[in-house]
Amino acid sequence: MLLHDESPGAVESREHSSILGTYGRTAFHPRSGSGARLFDAAGKAYWDLLAGIAVNALGYGHPSLEAVLDEASKGLLHVSNLFYHPAQGLLAERLLALTHLSSVFFCNSGTEANEAALKFARLRNPGRSGVVALEESFHGRTMGSLSLTGHDAYRAPFLPLVEGVRFIEPNSVAELEAAVSEETSAIFLEPIMGEAGVIPLSVEFLQAASRLAAQTGALLVCDEVQCGLGRSGAWFGYQESGIEPDIITLAKPLGGGLPLGAVIVGRELQSVVRPGHHGTTFGGNPLACRLGLAVLDTIEQEGLLDKVNSLGAWLGQELENLAAHHSSIVAVRGRGLMWGIELDVEAKPIATELLHRGFVVGTARERVLRLLPPYVITRGALEAFVWELGDILSTAANGQALPMKATA
Ligand code: PLP
Repeated sequence: MLLHDESPGAVESREHSSILGTYGRTAFHPRSGSGARLFDAAGKAYWDLLAGIAVNALGYGHPSLEAVLDEASKGLLHVSNLFYHPAQGLLAERLLALTHLSSVFFCNSGTEANEAALKFARLRNPGRSGVVALEESFHGRTMGSLSLTGHDAYRAPFLPLVEGVRFIEPNSVAELEAAVSEETSAIFLEPIMGEAGVIPLSVEFLQAASRLAAQTGALLVCDEVQCGLGRSGAWFGYQESGIEPDIITLAKPLGGGLPLGAVIVGRELQSVVRPGHHGTTFGGNPLACRLGLAVLDTIEQEGLLDKVNSLGAWLGQELENLAAHHSSIVAVRGRGLMWGIELDVEAKPIATELLHRGFVVGTARERVLRLLPPYVITRGALEAFVWELGDILSTAANGQALPMKATA
């Protein structure tokens, strides 16, 4: 069956009658890609500034991932976690070498990684069920991770959730100091809050969280699912602050496009986690772990951290310049290749117009355009994006309705 040849109309109508309505999908049908470019069902090319929401860090068709896939097709696609295969340990060693921590648990997704971290914190701090998390945070959709997610719209239909979570304002050291106590089992935070509209936590706030965790015995959990593995221009978003979290959770780019999550923990957890405390059928799948090794190798070998850093600094400046000329841009926030452009209007119609013009971008909350391009994107592509966005904002400011261009 040639799925590639299915028409967009046929795909959409089959979905409407067969797929549960958890997503409000955009009528965009990417079918192939190369580097940071995507091609839709009609062959139209797009610059991808979203990377599957921070998953496709190496873009599309990267030779290092293709080599793993070619070879792995002849091997075992699944090995039970009852048994051994080499790739988990190799990937764990590579991840540990990037941190000060000492062991890894592999799962399949970001929400599972945070779910596991929540359980591990209970094991480390028995009898302490309090958790401090941030307003507007996002940690996932399963009940535990949703309990840590500080966005009412996601939580309200599913109450009651796990009890004992206290939400505080991001970057408020005073609220943090008031909230963390000897009853706190863990502090959960995203060093750069993605779904909140790209809000970087301040060095002062991260350091206060680290200090309070050490003073009270609470575990500091850095959710690096979106901002980790190079997106910030460093391996981890917390690194700029010099802190050492007790647990790091990872997912999105780790498996090179296949589902793979990881929880990285320190020695204090090694001594309390026992067989049977936690587990997963698919987590740490051999193919996903081998792709993970290729992702880390490629980021290193192609100097992508330096590239993300310098290109990100340049992009930040370009976006600031754009903001200086367009009063509809309220704020520009971010680091590396993770940027939020907050507007004084709804972001979705602007994102739709950008799509018509050949640029895939994300949104966050109502009014933020979110950029999470693959690390392999070129400066030329970003220059073209900045120009088009400026043009759209100027035209919209002149009162013209969106969308302005029909899809080619
Ligand atoms: N944590 C953060 C910071 C995220 O951005 C996300 C997803 O966007 C998650 C957790 C949940 O990850 P997943 O969708 O893989 O469960």
